[in-house]
Amino acid sequence: MFRSLKYAIRLATAGVIYFFVVRFSLELIAMYPGATPIWPPTAFALAAVLLGGYQIAPAILAGAYFANWFSPGPHAAVGAALGNTVMAIGAGFLVNWWAAGRKAFATPAATTRFVLIAMFIAGISASAGSYLALEPDTSIGMDRQNFASTWVAWWSGDLAAMLVITPSLVLWLNEWPLTSLNFHRFIESTAILASVSAFGVVVAIVLPRDLPSAAPLAIFAVLLLTWAALRGGPRNSATATLILAAFGTAGTILAWPLARGVPDRLSSSLFVVFLIALAMLSLILASDSAQRRQAERILADARKELTKAREQFAQSQKLEAVGQLTSGVAHDFNNLLTVVVGNLEIAQRHLDSKAELSTERLRRLINNAARGAERATSITKQLLAFSRKEPFDPKPLNVSTVVHGISDFLRRSLGETITLDVQNASDLWHATADPVQLEAAVLNLAVNARDAMAEGGKLTITTRNSRLDEKYCQRHDELAAGPYVLIAVSDTGAGMSKEILQHAFEPFFTTKKAGEGTGLGLSQVQGFAKESKGHIEIDSKPGQGTTVTIYLPALPGNAPAEEAAEPEMSSADLSPTILLVEDDTDVRAYVAEILRELNYQVLEAHDAETALALVDRNSSRVDLLLADLVLPGMNGSQLAEQLKAGQPQTKVLFMTGYSHDKHQISINTDTEILHKPLTRETIERSVRETLSKPLTGADAAGAPVAPAAQG
Ligand code: ADP
Ligand code: MG
Repeated sequence: MFRSLKYAIRLATAGVIYFFVVRFSLELIAMYPGATPIWPPTAFALAAVLLGGYQIAPAILAGAYFANWFSPGPHAAVGAALGNTVMAIGAGFLVNWWAAGRKAFATPAATTRFVLIAMFIAGISASAGSYLALEPDTSIGMDRQNFASTWVAWWSGDLAAMLVITPSLVLWLNEWPLTSLNFHRFIESTAILASVSAFGVVVAIVLPRDLPSAAPLAIFAVLLLTWAALRGGPRNSATATLILAAFGTAGTILAWPLARGVPDRLSSSLFVVFLIALAMLSLILASDSAQRRQAERILADARKELTKAREQFAQSQKLEAVGQLTSGVAHDFNNLLTVVVGNLEIAQRHLDSKAELSTERLRRLINNAARGAERATSITKQLLAFSRKEPFDPKPLNVSTVVHGISDFLRRSLGETITLDVQNASDLWHATADPVQLEAAVLNLAVNARDAMAEGGKLTITTRNSRLDEKYCQRHDELAAGPYVLIAVSDTGAGMSKEILQHAFEPFFTTKKAGEGTGLGLSQVQGFAKESKGHIEIDSKPGQGTTVTIYLPALPGNAPAEEAAEPEMSSADLSPTILLVEDDTDVRAYVAEILRELNYQVLEAHDAETALALVDRNSSRVDLLLADLVLPGMNGSQLAEQLKAGQPQTKVLFMTGYSHDKHQISINTDTEILHKPLTRETIERSVRETLSKPLTGADAAGAPVAPAAQG
């Protein structure tokens, strides 16, 4: 019901419009013979079929019939109505079938086909029309010359209409209402149409009054239409042509023929030829440039998609590597839970038995449990951090910080048979890279190293400043000499044969069982190095282990990266934080007690690794490191160096039970050393003095240093 009503309204609208167009054209011709060589009704009928479908035909039939009501001859109105309708349907059919229908002006090929169809249809229309109009004398037949000139006029009138008016109607109405109007394009379109209108007024109406002939100026129309076609697109270009045609016609009606001194007939046929040529060229040119623009848009979209896909790939690569490490993590997690539960159980047992338990002992039990829980939290935190989805964001970063950030996770997940040694340079230059991909790369290399060390071994991750010279770079194209930040991951595992080495970087190349390797690890690492304008090197011998080295270009100015952020002040930050590292539990408890009484915040650890992990997981800002010089594993001096790599502002104070000449540990000369046994007074004074000392050059070793100063 609703649909048929809608259809009826459309029919009525189209019919009435068509009626007036035909009437207007007929009146115009009657009043100013030769004023317009274009026959608009043909254009409207074709546009109606293209936009409204074949069911619009009754509107054309009725509109044409009533418009021709007063035509001479008994059957003229019926003939005109039938003829116009059949022509419109035929043309519409051909355009729909061969020239992409209402999308005819979107590509040069379809536009060209539309032009050819218009020529053909105009030919048929001209033949039938001239034949009927001239009513051949049965005795002498058709006057051939008269027929030919009528035919040509008719043909060009229909053709010009289909090329000048139909495209405008189709392009405007098909996209109506215009949605995606971009401001700049709107301004330019307006400028184009305004210039064309101004040009039309001047050349067709103003100038011809005084000039014998303004016709040659029409050449400028070509320039304007080229502008419209290249910048404005098909719709503007078609509209511009229509505007020119309208002003040309208006000029002729106002009796200033385009070329004075040329017979009217010739003038108008020159005009129509000029119009047809312009319309054809600008339509084809406009569709070509529109198609190119469309292709550019598609290309840009595809690029965006590609970047997104690559981001997802990097993310899944990282998760893949993390996934390969999770069995180790689960194991570690269980250990930590045992620590937590075990300590709490002991504490509970003691409380239940009501046996006298020293506060110190109880505190230790609870502390142990809490520490275990903290470490478990740090694992989940790390896992969550890995699964964070982040867009590609190459930025200046400190590679040591990234390596340090994942080393705790690695240490837990590699298993007991593999020791991890992280050698982070404290004065590392900054490099520009995407942190997600850098993490993925280091993880991938670590997984490979672990897999190569089934029997156990040592995994070393080194970060260092390095200079690549011309000679080296010449052997690797696309590599520029200069300062680089180096990340080397080496293992003491099985190594690779020449054959494997040759293929190792290929995507999907793997020597591992299905489920254990995807063959994508090294190709990710290589892709990352390439993308960061860096370089990758692999050194491997069967039985002797493997070292993979990534070189990332160092930042020239070595601008400080993330450290630049001001630490936020909270009430907890007001009292200085002291990181106390001491392997003797009793000593540590004693010193910690004193420090807490002095109102300092105290972080405790029994060795360097734990201390670093503790700082890392709480992102604590450490004001002072108070460490035993001799510690199991990393010694106090090395710990200080590592800590200062991340926190250059940290001050350092050592404790030792040895006399000066006994230990072989080299330390900064102006760092104070406290000798055990320690009194409360010594601790209080030294800590206060060290904290209030300004940072010295040696203390600031972790601060960025210009590459030029390095060797
Ligand atoms: P995947 O680890 O999934 O097999 P990769 O691209 O990471 O894929 O590595 C490809 C191959 O290179 C591995 O299957 C292995 O044979 C070899 N490979 C990579 N790293 C090492 C290494 N550190 N030691 C020995 N072989 C290695
Ligand atoms: Mg791998």
